[in-house]
Order: sequence, then structure tokens, then C-alpha cells
Amino acid sequence: MSELISVIVPCYNESRTIEIFYQEITKISSVMDKYDFEYIFVDDGSKDDTLDIVKNLSKEDSRVKYISFSRNFGKESGIYAGLEKSKGDYAVVMDADLQDPPSLLPEMMRCIDEEGYDSVATRRVTRKGEPPIRSFFARQFYKLMNKISKTEIVDGARDYRLMTRQFVNAILQIQEYNRFSKGIYGWVGFNTKWLEYENVERVRGETKWSFWKLLVYAVDGIIAFSTVPLTLSVFFGLMFCFIALVATVYIVFKTILYGDPVAGWPSMMCIILMLGGIQLFCIGILGEYLSKTYLESKNRPIYICKETNT
Ligand code: UDP
Ligand code: MG
Repeated sequence: MSELISVIVPCYNESRTIEIFYQEITKISSVMDKYDFEYIFVDDGSKDDTLDIVKNLSKEDSRVKYISFSRNFGKESGIYAGLEKSKGDYAVVMDADLQDPPSLLPEMMRCIDEEGYDSVATRRVTRKGEPPIRSFFARQFYKLMNKISKTEIVDGARDYRLMTRQFVNAILQIQEYNRFSKGIYGWVGFNTKWLEYENVERVRGETKWSFWKLLVYAVDGIIAFSTVPLTLSVFFGLMFCFIALVATVYIVFKTILYGDPVAGWPSMMCIILMLGGIQLFCIGILGEYLSKTYLESKNRPIYICKETNT
């Protein structure tokens, strides 16, 4: 029996792209006739007829599997559910909008098969077609992240990745609720080969990521894979203690020598406001970590499945 590749496709309101995606991926599958395939579409609580389309496909093609969530849990949960239900010797995560070109799959498989890698990941080297502000912030995010986290997070990394069963099992062992896949992939280790490609624009439909959603995602990533912000607040605290000490000594001596009366309401207001700001900021950082700890400690499931044929 030939080896099985599980293709995992998180879908949220993708009714306009699924059929094109299905055509493309089946084309590639027929080229890779050495392997068997299963396509796992994870319907992440779509509000359009994504699920119906997938169900119809599954009637015609027994390789098509679906998992439908009870609501929108986010792409990360979709990836987890797909990996969990996958039976393949290999698993690959792919977007439904063809931004992760299925045509790379044979080359990815070759790297695992012949070069002995445990996973093959992809990164886009250009961000053509993306709003410049979005690209700018994305770049800064990766720079910052790599400075403050021990886990390697590659700039432009996609979730498009082919993994061996061993790699998949390692990912599944990470049960955390706040999932940041890009970090998790790096955290589990193993040998990963990076393939590069030029950005491809979405075939149809539109992106589900607003600027605001991306910003929240970035903050979540930092909180999940670095504790440097906490250390930073310790540093702020020490720095201001030191400044206060120096200022106290200065003022005491100045008063003894010159007997200056107290003055400077505006400067005092500035100092109070600034310190108040920094204190709130540091409490905020603390709160972010605390809220994540709170959510993790509830131990809620990563997703809730409403319907499936796996
Ligand atoms: N997606 C998902 N749940 C969500 C948002 C997105 O499963 O809450 C899926 C979406 O259907 C697509 C993939 O994640 O297959 C990437 O989404 P999108 O193309 O909108 O993101 P972008 O490529 O613009 O970063
Ligand atoms: Mg996309």
C-alpha cells in the first residue's frame, strides 16, 4: 500500500475558492501517483455555504473529509483539528485561497523523501500585492520577535508546511489553548527545510485578516513565546528608582547649600504623569500574561466539532 498524505485546509467563508482549490490539488495529486491522498477541509464556522460545497465534494470523492466547527474558532484551531484527525504518514497544511501554491508539493515531498528532512516549510520572500503599511509592521514584528524570543520565527513564514507523522505527533502534544503555530513549529525542533517563493495573491474572495486582527495576533505571539516584556518592566522599575535616588541627593544638597524654596509644579506634574503611565503600562503587560494564564488554566477544548465524516 502506498503512503498517505493528508492535506489539511482550514476554511472560513471560502465558498468562492474551495472548488478551484479542489481542482488544483487533485491535479497535483494525480501527478504524485506514488502517494494516496486525503483532503481534510476544516470548516471554521463559516457563515456561507462552504460546508455544503465540501459535503457535495465528499459525496463524489471519498478522499474528501470535513470537520465542521460549532462556531469560528480561528485558523490555529482549524490547523490543530485537521492534524488531529489526519491519518496520513505525512500531513500538509494549506490555505484554501491558493496563496500556498499546491504546485510546490512534489518538491516538498522530495525534500522529505530524499534529503531526509522532518518537515518542509515555506516562506514568501516578497509581499507583492499587500498594503505597504501591513508589510512594514509585519517585518518589524518578525525582527522584534526574533530578538525577544528563543524560539526561531522566520520572517515571511507561511503556515504552508509538509510534516512527517513524527512531527505531527509532536505538534499534537502541545495542547495549549492560545496557539501560535509559527512559534509552535519552531519550538518542537526537528530538521526543517525552507522553500522560498514569491507572494501569490488570493484567487478569489478576500482576506479575513484586518489590520487590527493582525495586531492582536502579533501581541498574542509575543506573549506566547517570550517573557521579555515582563523583564522589561523590572528594568523600567529599577531605572526609575535609580533616577529618583540621584534626584533626591541633588535636591537635598541644593536645598542645604542654596536654601531654595520648593518650585516647579509643571515639572512635577510631568514626572507624575510619566511614572503613572509607565506603571499602568507595566501592569498592562502583567495583565496580558495573567489573562493568558487564566485562559490556559480553564483547560477549555481547542475546538468544538459539530459535524464530521472523518
Ligand atoms: N481561516 C480560518 N479561520 C479564520 C480565518 C481564516 O480557517 O478565522 C482560513 C482561511 O479560510 C484561509 C486561511 O485561513 O484558508 C488564510 O486566511 P486568509 O487568506 O484570509 O489570510 P491571509 O492569506 O490574507 O493571511
Ligand atoms: Mg490568504
